[in-house]
Amino acid sequence: MLASSRPANRPQVKPTITGSNGQPRPTGAPPTAPSRPANRPNVKATVKPGGTTSTTPQVRPVPRPIPRPAPPQTGPRRMAQELISASGKRTIRELHMQGQRVLLRVDFNVPLSDGKIVDDSRIRAAVPTIKALLDGGASVVIMSHLGRPDGRVVDGLRLRPAAERLTQLIRVNVPTTGDALGVGTDDAVRRLRPGELLLLENVRFHAGEERNDPAFAERLASYGDVFVNDAFGAAHRAHASTVGVAAYLPSYVGLLMEQEVEALSNLLEKPARPFAAIVGGGKVSGKVAVLEALIKKVDLLILGGGVANTFLVASGRSVGKSLYESKMVDDARRILKLAQDRGVRVLLPVDGVVAKEVTRGTEFKVVSTDKLPASWHMVDLGPASITAIREALAPIKTILWNGPLGVFEIPSFAVATRELAKVAAEKADAGATVVVGGGDSIAALRQLGVAEKMTHLSTGGGASLEFLEGRDLPGLAVVPTAGSPYETLPIIYVSPVKPGGKAAAKRAPAKPKPIIKPSALDDEDDESDTLA
Ligand code: ADP
Ligand code: MG
Repeated sequence: MLASSRPANRPQVKPTITGSNGQPRPTGAPPTAPSRPANRPNVKATVKPGGTTSTTPQVRPVPRPIPRPAPPQTGPRRMAQELISASGKRTIRELHMQGQRVLLRVDFNVPLSDGKIVDDSRIRAAVPTIKALLDGGASVVIMSHLGRPDGRVVDGLRLRPAAERLTQLIRVNVPTTGDALGVGTDDAVRRLRPGELLLLENVRFHAGEERNDPAFAERLASYGDVFVNDAFGAAHRAHASTVGVAAYLPSYVGLLMEQEVEALSNLLEKPARPFAAIVGGGKVSGKVAVLEALIKKVDLLILGGGVANTFLVASGRSVGKSLYESKMVDDARRILKLAQDRGVRVLLPVDGVVAKEVTRGTEFKVVSTDKLPASWHMVDLGPASITAIREALAPIKTILWNGPLGVFEIPSFAVATRELAKVAAEKADAGATVVVGGGDSIAALRQLGVAEKMTHLSTGGGASLEFLEGRDLPGLAVVPTAGSPYETLPIIYVSPVKPGGKAAAKRAPAKPKPIIKPSALDDEDDESDTLA
């Protein structure tokens, strides 16, 4: 599974496998030093404690294994932890870290408001890999993007707040560089010693990042001996820091990437049955492909939020002024037909909360979804729908939830989302596997204080959806399979740049965006992959 099978439309470049005799190492034999592709300048120099530098390749001893956390006797997290690596990818468990300079891609694309981090889940999720690398004696050069600066320096999108948060979490000072590249950065990287780390400034300040420019990737790659990709949330992007650098360095996945892939592939491949998917949120567009894929896997599909409104229209109801997508009605109809053909039960809301306006303090009432008034907005599910969901979930052993059931940002319309969060927590406590994806859904769980009860919270928005659709994630495909020789370089996919497409476009000067709202961030995550 998850083999790096190549879709026919992705060109293969640089099928470079250098240095190796092509044979897997016998167990216990020391891995050899990484050999550098001929086109890569040997800019790396190991700084010895005495201050002298050496470029002599070292013979590396056997990797020190990272123990998996002991599975708890009971509790909802045991499922994910008991699994043997499902990613099939070479993970940092195989990496001998001592003295290595690791170029680590993380996803610190966190929601900010007034320069403050609103939700640090993604930073927390990267900590196990960072700690494992530092404890293993590596020096770590971390890279991430934040928001959409479109190849320009945007002060509001600097990574300093993320560095400060990481410093608090790992209790090690995390310096940031003023730029991902440059003389100062080269120097800071060269001075790093084992057990030290630094965070490169937002890689998307350089246009070469999203374009996956080989020259930009090569310069980033010069900062490491090996590349570790732990940015699951950005794995659906074929960018320089997620894919491009792997052309120059032996590549590994981090512990978060491994855990995400395990949790999500377990859902797709061996869910305990019955298996239910709950899909809510604002829009069907962007979720059609995942809904189609899930219909083939689940026993029950529960719909809520604006997504349910479009399905209500598809099943012949009128939804008044409620958010729905007229262009998606045919897709919704097709999905309902597919469900019917496959004997999958679909639960649509039978009642809803309708409001005069989608604002706080507005007038609202509960009505049947058969009689939704023409000039009102459906903003939450009603009590009968909530009871129906509770009952339908009673026998369910596996739950995948993406998208809130109503406009949960307004407390009066957060009732169904809150109730579902409670049910999900009860189910997880009772031993069901509960996986939740989506920034807003996880925010709702955090508000209620039940987030930690879930089996797995996926840090990837768009990446989780694409994974569940069964698509190849470029940031994962780029890492060789487990047990590959140390020197193995991956086969790199390069995203075809569409003429006039996003990557190619010359942009007008963008206004600085000092504030990223969580929802805006999610929109970016959920947008379809430019790879297509
Ligand atoms: P996630 O981030 O969990 O993937 P989405 O981004 O898909 O979720 O959707 C979250 C958004 O959907 C929220 O901003 C919420 O207000 C909105 N939403 C949910 N239900 C409705 C509804 N009935 N009408 C309008 N917006 C809705
Ligand atoms: Mg969202």
